[in-house]
Amino acid sequence: MVAVHPPGPKTVAIVGAGLTGLLAAHGLQQNGFNAVVFEREVSLDERQRDWTMLVHWAMPIFEKLVPKDILADLHKAVCNPYLDFDEQVESLPCYNGVTGGLLLRSPTPGARRVTRRALRRLLARRLDIRWNKTVTAVSSTENGVRISFEGEDKFYADFLLGADGSSSKVRELLLGFETARPRPSGFLFATGITKYADARKTNAIVEAHPVASLMMGTGSVGAVGGTSSTPKLLLSSLLISKAHTFRFGYVVMSISDPEDASTWTTFWTKIWRAESVKLSGQEALEYIENNTSPLRDVFQSAIDWTPRDSSVHIDEMKYWIPTPWDNLGGRVTLAGDAAHPMLIYRGQGFQHSITDVNNYVETLTRLESLGDDAALRGEALMNYDAEMIDRGSKAVQQSLEEAEKSLDPEKIKHMLMATKGHVRSA
Ligand SMILES: Cc1cc2nc3c(=O)[nH]c(=O)nc-3n(C[C@H](O)[C@H](O)[C@H](O)COP(=O)(O)OP(=O)(O)OC[C@H]3O[C@@H](n4cnc5c(N)ncnc54)[C@H](O)[C@@H]3O)c2cc1C
Repeated sequence: MVAVHPPGPKTVAIVGAGLTGLLAAHGLQQNGFNAVVFEREVSLDERQRDWTMLVHWAMPIFEKLVPKDILADLHKAVCNPYLDFDEQVESLPCYNGVTGGLLLRSPTPGARRVTRRALRRLLARRLDIRWNKTVTAVSSTENGVRISFEGEDKFYADFLLGADGSSSKVRELLLGFETARPRPSGFLFATGITKYADARKTNAIVEAHPVASLMMGTGSVGAVGGTSSTPKLLLSSLLISKAHTFRFGYVVMSISDPEDASTWTTFWTKIWRAESVKLSGQEALEYIENNTSPLRDVFQSAIDWTPRDSSVHIDEMKYWIPTPWDNLGGRVTLAGDAAHPMLIYRGQGFQHSITDVNNYVETLTRLESLGDDAALRGEALMNYDAEMIDRGSKAVQQSLEEAEKSLDPEKIKHMLMATKGHVRSA
């Protein structure tokens, strides 16, 4: 089937119904564009893995991009909307994994922690999303761009935005497989969604902080396979071949009854350096137990108490440092994780997605007011790409440096997390 876009407003095809693609669709729709989102998953519920994320320095930009009714319902995506938000609640404490004392507290004024799934559900409202559409090819036409999908389907649009995540097919189509390939970082991360159904356990966990807390630098056991900077503290325990855990965090993920902590769902992450594995469920829990060094206090209990049937996943974090691509005369570009997949330190990924989307919407809106001129289009999109590549490269590099520093208790105090907190740094 060949779908030809109708005359009238310009059509932007967006590949990927993740948060970047959905946000871009709203930003474009609000500015008079026809936005059509193509997603390879069959529905919003297909993906099992969920996580929480902090929306912090880019919150004011996010608020500008989404329609008012969605913004009014943002509390539906917030992990714990029942809190009285103040300076203490809007901060992220980080505890010392060796002593248990407070290492640092990062201020996050105005920030809200949301779950990806709930925010995605909210942002999917009133959008034209075509599910079960896997993009396989992209090419230019005389007046725009042609997108091909698995099967015989094609779609014609004026512009194409690749928002298809860290292993982006659009990126691969623009740059070739080898150049576009996401790079393994050597850092593994586990996520666990837990419902203890026991108010005492949940209360013990939220005592350190009602939203989220971190623990770093657990140096009591373990040595790192393939680590370039083995902490001195650990040299005496090299015989214990467990991977050094350097960061752990937990958060309140969702609340059914604010008065009854046994109904709350919590979420934890653990990061360490090791050989790549991809595991889920009980296998993942057993791997963590047997191969990563234990934490202390309630941070360890959060894992020990995890019911065996919980949603637990382990994967390696991947990154890609953006490099210029051929944007097909200003018709095709990238945004979000497709453009700059980074490690999850200081929660910067989605902040940069929001920034990309805002810049993209502004670029296309400005172009509309200037008329349909190929030279102007080429220049405008080249400027969009250049800014994003520069900013994205810095952010990806910083995430890698943060990861390296977090392995060494001596260097934790030099991390951006400690010196700058969560503010924008790229
Ligand atoms: C545990 C964790 C914690 C995080 N915490 C934070 C935080 O606190 N703050 C922060 O700013 N960021 C955080 N991030 C990063 C943030 O989640 C991501 O940057 C953001 O969600 C990226 O969204 P995206 O839409 O660009 O990519 P994705 O969510 O990957 O979406 C891409 C979509 O494209 C679809 N797709 C892929 N290929 C194709 C194809 N060929 N055809 C059609 N569709 C396709 C996929 O199915 C997917 O739905 C965190 C990430 C993790 C994993």
